[in-house]
Amino acid sequence: MSKPEQLWIQFEKHFHTLNQIRGITEIIGWDQRTQMPDGAAEQRGEQLSYLEETYHRLITEPAFSATLGELEAQASALSPVQRGAVRLFRRKVRERDRIPAELAKASVEAHSRGYAIWIQARAQNDFSLFQPELEKILELRKQTADCLKEGKQTRYEAMTQLFEPEWPLENTARILGSLRDRLVPLLPKIMEQQKKVPLQDRGLPLSAEKQAKLNLWIAERIGFDFKMGRLDISPHPFCGGSGADVRLTTRYNEKDWSQSFYGVMHETGHGLYEQGMELLAPHRALRETPSMGLHESQSRFWENQIGRHPEFCVWLVKQMQEMKLLDSAWSGPRLARYVNRVEPSYIRVEADEVTYQLHILLRFELEQALFDGSVAVRDLPGAWNELLKKYLGLAAPAVSQGVLQDVHWSDGSFGYFPSYALGNLISAQIAEKIERDIPIAESVRKGEFLPLRDWLRSHVHQQGASQSMAEIVKQVSGAELGVGAFIRYVEAKFLCR
Ligand SMILES: [Zn+2]
Repeated sequence: MSKPEQLWIQFEKHFHTLNQIRGITEIIGWDQRTQMPDGAAEQRGEQLSYLEETYHRLITEPAFSATLGELEAQASALSPVQRGAVRLFRRKVRERDRIPAELAKASVEAHSRGYAIWIQARAQNDFSLFQPELEKILELRKQTADCLKEGKQTRYEAMTQLFEPEWPLENTARILGSLRDRLVPLLPKIMEQQKKVPLQDRGLPLSAEKQAKLNLWIAERIGFDFKMGRLDISPHPFCGGSGADVRLTTRYNEKDWSQSFYGVMHETGHGLYEQGMELLAPHRALRETPSMGLHESQSRFWENQIGRHPEFCVWLVKQMQEMKLLDSAWSGPRLARYVNRVEPSYIRVEADEVTYQLHILLRFELEQALFDGSVAVRDLPGAWNELLKKYLGLAAPAVSQGVLQDVHWSDGSFGYFPSYALGNLISAQIAEKIERDIPIAESVRKGEFLPLRDWLRSHVHQQGASQSMAEIVKQVSGAELGVGAFIRYVEAKFLCR
């Protein structure tokens, strides 16, 4: 056996162990958020912390780094797939090597505790409960950023790099700036246009039991494989698990089935990406996304480009009437009007496609301010309200519907929010390209979703992490990531109806 082959076997063996730990962490993390009794929070925190320590120790083992180094030295003897896996793991090792084990452990404990207290604080509408936890979490993230930042990077850029590697913060800032300049003036025009047809419905009541059935049906219909996944309930919906075990979650509001329905389409989009990578990505080590923005583009595509398409609404109403979930007075256009209404609101996850981006701009500004010290944690509720006024013209009625609404800061995911906005832009850019191969309106009118899923599989999912987000977007859409496609989509959908 040649030297590179031997080295590759060593790499795979170590990767396999790391992957096992990651898989177990995902599943007990899912359990923590869906099934675990409250009293077990501390114990689960310790278990997660043990796994994190073990992962950290194994990935930073000098022998593994040495194997990577030797593989890098023999790069010309490796296949492109092997080279991709080595590159990906070099980055992971570098990130880990720079963070002392004590800091990594303290962070996991703080996030586990922070999450439990965030749940309480949100339920009791009391920011002061969460404030000391958030201060600790932010302090630990700043220490982590100091370990990670390179060259002229700011602490905040070091955070965003964890979700968008190889994508400079200045690109995000430039793109979000241009998004703000083009989207903010469109909002009043859209609201004006919308007034022409008054909204008939203020809610879509349906029992949680019926919603659960509907959700399972649509997830399967758009191509999710339940032999490799589940759908459960959690306070903050997410897609977890890994590989052949993808865990989707949702929450139910019996006054409005569309909330969990579109939440499930969103999480299923993430799940389809995971399943597509599991089945197709060229090597196990590459079965992960190169960017959270790209992951979000997959969820947003199914939730908005497909799920909120007027023709999809026509198809869905017919299906739901056959299932006796809607009466005969319902029509596709009535549902399309309801699920596409544009209205400034407090809650990001329930926001329409247009104002959603403004919610992200608000969080992007606040996170930068928290990291450069211009806003302190205790002043967050006030700063939140100021920006809510600026972007959406609203005042949050309660902290539970304002600064406490998102899970992200409780688990230290500062720098994640911009990826949501990028995901919306990527999904619009990809949809323009798909349209040339598969006419979207025609497909959804017939309820034919698998060709769309398979297009995404062959163009996006099967790449795994073998290329960067910017490279995949450029290769798939033929253009650099920008705001053009998203703005064209918004204008066509909301101004020309
Ligand atoms: Zn998502």
